[in-house]
Amino acid sequence: MSSYPNAVDTCRPLDVLGREVEVPLVGGEKVTYAALDYAASAPALQRVWDDVAAYAPYYGSVHRGAGYLSQLSTDLFEQSRATVADFLQLREDDQVVFTRATTDSLNLLASALPAGTRVYAFETEHHASLLPWRGRGLDVTYLRAPRSPEQAVAALEEALAAAHAAGGPRPELVCVTGASNVTGEIWPVRELAATAHRYGARIVLDAAQLAPHHPVSVRELDVDWVAFSGHKLYAPFGAGVLAGRADWLDAAEPYLAGGGASRTVAREADGSVAVEWHRGPARHEAGSPNVIGAYAIASACRALREAGFDALVARERQLIARLREGLAAVPEVRVLTLFGEDHPRVGVLSFVVQGWNSSHFSAALSAEYGIGVRDGLFCAHPLVRTLLGGEENVPSECGAPEASLPGERSLNAIRVSFGAGTPDEHVDRFVAAVRELVTQGAQWAYRTEGGRCVPDTRR
Ligand code: PLP
Repeated sequence: MSSYPNAVDTCRPLDVLGREVEVPLVGGEKVTYAALDYAASAPALQRVWDDVAAYAPYYGSVHRGAGYLSQLSTDLFEQSRATVADFLQLREDDQVVFTRATTDSLNLLASALPAGTRVYAFETEHHASLLPWRGRGLDVTYLRAPRSPEQAVAALEEALAAAHAAGGPRPELVCVTGASNVTGEIWPVRELAATAHRYGARIVLDAAQLAPHHPVSVRELDVDWVAFSGHKLYAPFGAGVLAGRADWLDAAEPYLAGGGASRTVAREADGSVAVEWHRGPARHEAGSPNVIGAYAIASACRALREAGFDALVARERQLIARLREGLAAVPEVRVLTLFGEDHPRVGVLSFVVQGWNSSHFSAALSAEYGIGVRDGLFCAHPLVRTLLGGEENVPSECGAPEASLPGERSLNAIRVSFGAGTPDEHVDRFVAAVRELVTQGAQWAYRTEGGRCVPDTRR
C-alpha cells in the first residue's frame, strides 16, 4: 500500500450514524458493522440527525397554518429550497422541486415533457433514468453502451444529427447519469450538455451517485435539470430533488393533482370544477410537503459544503486507491469497467470473483465478516449484463453457490461502495476479507432461502 495520493488536503471521515453498531456473525461473535453499500443508501450524517432532532419539537404544517410553528416550518421549508439552489449553483430563474427521490424526480420530468419530445438515454443508465420515458407517447432512443467518454459524446452527436436530418425540430431531452451506480465511473456531463445544446436539445443530469461525492454545479456543467435523492446524500428522510428550468414544468399538468398545487378551485355553473394551478415548485408538490425530508437535505448540503468537497474528494480518492490496490493483488477478482480501470470514479466499484457466485460471496462477507455490500444487477440490468459479457436474460436472485464454477461467467456482480463517513479501516477489512475468502473459502456452507443466500446453520 504505497502509492496513495498526497494526504495533505484530505479530511477525517464525517460522523455518521451507525458507526459503532455491532452485528452478530454466523459463528456467534459480534463485530462493528462495515457499511459498504453507500450507493444504495448512505448512513445519515450525525449533523443531519442533530439538526432534524433540534427542529422536531417545532414541527408543524407547511403552507397551511396560521400558528407560529406552521409559519416557522414554512420558512424552514422555503429556506431549505434556497439552500439546495445554492448547493447546486442554480441559475437565477431555476427552481427546486422537492420530490420523494431521484426516481420520482425523473418521472415528474417525464410527465412534464412537451408532447412528442424525443428522448435520448444510454442503455447503461440506472432503471430510474432508463424507464420513465417509456409509454408516454415520447420518442425514445436508447444509445448503446459506449466504451470511452469520447464514444459517449460521439454516439449522442450521431443520434442527434440523424434525428435532425430525418425530421423537423421537436423538443428533445438527453438524460445522463453523472456517476454510474455500477462502475462508479464519472461521465462526461459537460461535453454531453454542450453537444445536446448545440442541437437545441435539453439535458437532465441524474446526480444520484454524483452529488454525494462531488460538487454539482448546474451553471458550470450547463445542464437543464438535475435530480438526486436525500437518502444517498446522508439525509434519509424520504425526500429528493428535481431542480432546473421552470418553463416546461410550469407549462405541464401538475404531477399530482390536489391541495397545494391549486391556486383556486371553483364550481362552474354546469356543475364541473375549474382549477387554476400554481406556477413554480408548488405546482408539482401537491399534498402536505415533507418538511423534515427537505430540511434534512438542506442540512446535508450545508455539512458537505462546510467539510469542503476538495477535502472530501481527496479523501475518497485515497480510499479508492487503497481499495483498487488491495483488489489488484487478488487475481481472481475482475473489476467491471466501461471506460477502463483508471478512469476517474466515485467510491463505487463492482466486481466478480472467479469461481464464486456473487450472492454467495456477498453473503459470506456479511455472515462471516460483518461487511455489508450488495450483489445483483443493481437496477441497471443492461449495463451489468454487458459488463459481465452476456446479453441473455439471467435471473438476478441469489443463485446456488455452485452456479458459477471456475472459468464460468458470473450471473451477477458484487458492489462495494463508500463515502464521506467511511473509515480507512472498513476498506482494509473488506480487502482482507476478500483475500481470505478467495484463498481459504467460506467457513460455512450456504443455501438459498426465500431468494437469499444464507449460511446453513442447520447442522
Ligand atoms: N439513479 C442512480 C444512478 C441510482 O444509483 C439510483 C439508485 O440507486 C437512482 C437513480 C434511483 O434513486 P432512488 O431509488 O433514490 O429513487
